[in-house]
Amino acid sequence: MRYEAPESLDAAVALLAGANGDARVLAGGTDLLVQMRSDILDPELIVDIKKIAETRRVTEEGGRWRIGAAVTGAELKENARLKAAWPGVVEAANLIGSTQIQGRATMGGNLCNGSPAADSVPALIAAGAVANVAGPKGRRDIPVEDVMLGPRKLSLTRGEFIVSFLLPARGKGTGDAYLRFIPRTEMDIAVVGAGVNLTVDGAGVITAARVGLGAVAARVLLVGPAAQAIVGSSLDEAAQRRLEAAAQAACQPIDDKRGTIEFRTEVAGVLTRRAALIALERARANR
Ligand SMILES: Cc1cc2nc3c(=O)[nH]c(=O)nc-3n(C[C@H](O)[C@H](O)[C@H](O)COP(=O)(O)OP(=O)(O)OC[C@H]3O[C@@H](n4cnc5c(N)ncnc54)[C@H](O)[C@@H]3O)c2cc1C
Repeated sequence: MRYEAPESLDAAVALLAGANGDARVLAGGTDLLVQMRSDILDPELIVDIKKIAETRRVTEEGGRWRIGAAVTGAELKENARLKAAWPGVVEAANLIGSTQIQGRATMGGNLCNGSPAADSVPALIAAGAVANVAGPKGRRDIPVEDVMLGPRKLSLTRGEFIVSFLLPARGKGTGDAYLRFIPRTEMDIAVVGAGVNLTVDGAGVITAARVGLGAVAARVLLVGPAAQAIVGSSLDEAAQRRLEAAAQAACQPIDDKRGTIEFRTEVAGVLTRRAALIALERARANR
């Protein structure tokens, strides 16, 4: 196994594209190294992207936030302005693992590990985040919901990797939230994860919304009908019921020891409703 730690995007792309066998990006290593130690993966080449400045920065670009793909959860939490603008995204990233894991784990790795239960992904999808990708044909942007195709399957092509995520500009009356259900109090994989991002007008009516759902299908879902169920409402009881029903209708979960199909579907509705109520409270607070 060869380890490389290039300092430029071009060098990283050239290494990844030119590898003979399996080539893997290394960010925090909290998935990759575990999988290598468990003999699930045996890459010929590992390309550590942490020396590439663009992957390690958090910057504000005219109200939009660009987060490097190799920024850790611990670093996100330290950024008070980002946390104020996107509390749901930061809290989702901060649910990943323990304090030790937080010092390493990144949102790029969380997405590219290709788990339908990845915690930061429903929040990124709800936020409308776009992944910026570098590859042999140059740079391109992919909405986060289109990066993962199924368990361990990504839409990235050979030599491509995620450089950063761009979160849209935050106006007045916006708020987001992420909630997950796990059987233990911490250090567990989501049985369901729900991210909601919404905007309210001066009268408290929801004018825009996005809902991301994790661990209820083969990939993390953007649930359009759930958003449509609450736009135009002030999230009254009837709208909450519509939201629950739409979230549940999108679920195609597996049945396993951690949760039955019925349980996951039920919890998806409940968590989506609760996350929407938190997002609404946050949106009202910054009108
Ligand atoms: C004890 C423990 C607890 C955990 N708890 C949780 C949890 O609660 N919730 C949760 O969601 N996950 C959890 N995880 C899984 C893991 O920590 C997260 O998925 C983490 O975000 C992975 O990030 P990383 O930077 O460590 O990725 P890495 O391990 O470096 O990479 C993961 C995969 O993504 C690829 N990759 C990494 N970065 C990029 C990039 N920029 N572009 C393209 N490909 C890339 C790698 O090649 C690899 O295949 C846990 C893991 C452990 C060991």
